[in-house]
Amino acid sequence: MSKKTMKDVELKGKVVLIRVDFNVPMKDGVITDDNRIVQALSTIKYAIDQGGKLVLFSHLGRVKDEADKADNSLAPVAKRLSQLLNRPITFVGETRGEQLEKAIKAMSNGDVVMFENTRFEDINGKKESKNDPELGKYWASLGDIFVNDAFGTAHRAHASNVGIAANMKDVVAGFLMEKEINFIGNAVDNPVRPFIAILGGAKVSDKISVIENLINKADKILICGAMAYTFYKALGYEVGTSKCENDFVEFAKGLLEKANGKIILPIDTVIVKEFSEFAESRVVTSDQIPADEMGMDIGPKTIELFEKELQGAKTVVWNGPAGVFEFDKFAVGTNGICRILANLVGATTIIGGGDSAAAAIKLGYEDKFSHISTGGGASLEYLEGKLLPGVEIINDKNCCCGNCK
Ligand code: ADP
Ligand code: MG
Repeated sequence: MSKKTMKDVELKGKVVLIRVDFNVPMKDGVITDDNRIVQALSTIKYAIDQGGKLVLFSHLGRVKDEADKADNSLAPVAKRLSQLLNRPITFVGETRGEQLEKAIKAMSNGDVVMFENTRFEDINGKKESKNDPELGKYWASLGDIFVNDAFGTAHRAHASNVGIAANMKDVVAGFLMEKEINFIGNAVDNPVRPFIAILGGAKVSDKISVIENLINKADKILICGAMAYTFYKALGYEVGTSKCENDFVEFAKGLLEKANGKIILPIDTVIVKEFSEFAESRVVTSDQIPADEMGMDIGPKTIELFEKELQGAKTVVWNGPAGVFEFDKFAVGTNGICRILANLVGATTIIGGGDSAAAAIKLGYEDKFSHISTGGGASLEYLEGKLLPGVEIINDKNCCCGNCK
C-alpha cells in the first residue's frame, strides 16, 4: 500500500489519536450489533501493545439538537469495548475541555481514553460535519500521532478526520483502513485479471458512476437486481411493473453500445403479480415479462450463466443484491452468487455495498469472501474511482519529508 500505516511510526509513549468507526446500531441504549467494535480491535490492541496512549473517538448516529444526545452517547460503546479488551477504559462524556485534557495527561503507556460522540459538536453549527477548522485544530492539539481507521466515513471531510489531519505531521492508516485500501483500491486500480464486476441493487441512477468507472476497468460486468430492468427497457423489452428508471433508459442504451459485449444481462427472471413475500412466482425468459407483472430476482438459468462467466476470474467485485433478498423467496439469486463466489478457487472476492454485505452475512457467507467492506457509502465512492478525503489525508509511504499526503 502506498499509504503509511501504524507500523511505520513509533507509538511508544505517544498520545495516539485514533478515529474509529463505532457507529453501531443501537436500540434503547443497547448495542444490537457490535461488529464495528470487533473490527477495530486489531488496531486498538496493536497500539496498546506498542505502548501508545490511546485516545479513541467516533461519531454515532445523527445529532441535531440536545434531545438527540441521550440516544447517541458513546458510553455503552466504551463499556462494550472495555469488555472486549478486558481492560478499563476512561470514558469522558465530553468532546472537549478540561476533563478530557486531564484524562489524557494522566495516561500511562497502554492506557485508553475514549471521548464522546464527535457529532455532539454538530449541535451548534455543525462543527464536526462541516469540518470547522478550530475544532480539527483543537482535537489535533490533544495528541502526537493521528491514526485514521474509520473507512466508513472516509468519503466525508469532517473535523474528526480531515480537520485533525491538516494539523498533524504523522497521519497514518489503522489496520482496518489499510485492509479496505488494499482490497478495494487494488481491485479498482490494479486488478489481477480477469476482473469481473457484479452490479445489482435497486437503481441504475445510484450506480451510474460505478458502472462508468468499472466499464473501463473490468473485463466483464454482470448486471442483476432491479437495475437489469432499465437495461431491458433499453433493449426494447417489456418490463411490466418491475422497478425501472425511465429517465435512465437512454443512458443504459449508451452503455450497452459502449460496452461492446462486456455487459452481461440476466437471461431469465422470477416474476410476481404483486410485491409481497408470499406472492406466487414463476420464471420467464427476460423478454417475456407480462405487462402486469414484476421481476423480483434473477432466474436459475442466469445463475448458471453467471457461474460460467465467473469461472477463471481472478478478481471479483460485487455491489448490489441480485433480487429482493429481504424476502427469503427472492434471495435465491443473491444466495447463488454468494455460493459461486465462495467456491471460486484462487480469486480475490470483494463485496462493497451496504445491502450486499448485509445480504451475504445474513445468508451465512461472512467468512467466505476475501473482503467484505465495512463502509457502504465509502466503498461505493471508492468503486466510482473517486478520491476519498479520509484516505487522501494519510501520509504517503514514500514521502520525502514525513508529511506528504
Ligand atoms: P447496496 O447497498 O449493496 O449498494 P442497493 O442499495 O443498491 O445495494 O440495493 C439494495 C436493494 O435493492 C435491496 O433493498 C433489494 O430489495 C433491492 N432490489 C434488488 N433487486 C430488486 C428487484 N428486482 N426489485 C426491487 N428491488 C430490488
Ligand atoms: Mg444500499
